[in-house]
Amino acid sequence: NATPRDRLRIAIQKSGRLADPARALLASCGLSWRESRDRLFCYGETLPVDLLLVRDDDIPGLIADGVCDLGVVGRNVMTEQDGERRAAGKPTAYRELRALGFGDCRLALAVPEGWEWKSPRQLDGMRIATSYPALLSQWLADEGVSAEVVLLSGSVEIAPRLGQADAICDLVSSGATLAANQLKPVATLFESEAVLAGPVHEFDAARGELASMLLRRLDGALRIRH
Ligand code: ATP
Ligand code: ZN
Repeated sequence: NATPRDRLRIAIQKSGRLADPARALLASCGLSWRESRDRLFCYGETLPVDLLLVRDDDIPGLIADGVCDLGVVGRNVMTEQDGERRAAGKPTAYRELRALGFGDCRLALAVPEGWEWKSPRQLDGMRIATSYPALLSQWLADEGVSAEVVLLSGSVEIAPRLGQADAICDLVSSGATLAANQLKPVATLFESEAVLAGPVHEFDAARGELASMLLRRLDGALRIRH
């Protein structure tokens, strides 16, 4: 659907937790960019590989629409949006090509510190706040729990204190944010790290060769790191 391109386009987070490690990893693959003033589009200098700097949430859609060929995004975002697409009757449009070994976190269920936690069935009839409705709904279905999913785009941890929800489902790395809000993690729904995402379909010839070369270099760079 996008106009034919002979350059490869990679979407990464403009700013945030994945922004610097994504740039560093791509630089270690031999890529370099001329920075434009607004920094949303960076023209590749050493190779015909350009960068698009965006919000992480936009990356799966950009790949699905063919605007970008590859993206560096959390597996949590990719899987959540895939679940939302399926729920809307849309086909899977992107897939994980490589796990990148940074941005580790988990999607956890957390309840008020005072609760005595026994099993997920305790959540029956409760309200759970999250920004990950598809992943949470899938877990609730797997556990046979019937709870109300309260969709919040941010500040999920404060929802119980505000009376918007009884429990939450949110990303956790150290757990410090949960503790600061008198919550404790009781179950892990999903383990995440940053991944390189690409389309489910194969690339056309010119971009296919570029993508293969980039993946070979990436595999080399990832081997050195681990
Ligand atoms: P954007 O403005 O791009 O939408 P954001 O606020 O959604 O930014 P960040 O907080 O930078 O995004 O998180 C980006 C990704 O980093 C997450 O989707 C997740 O994969 C990963 N991550 C690692 N640790 C954490 C954590 N403790 N909390 C949130 N995300 C984390
Ligand atoms: Zn985001």
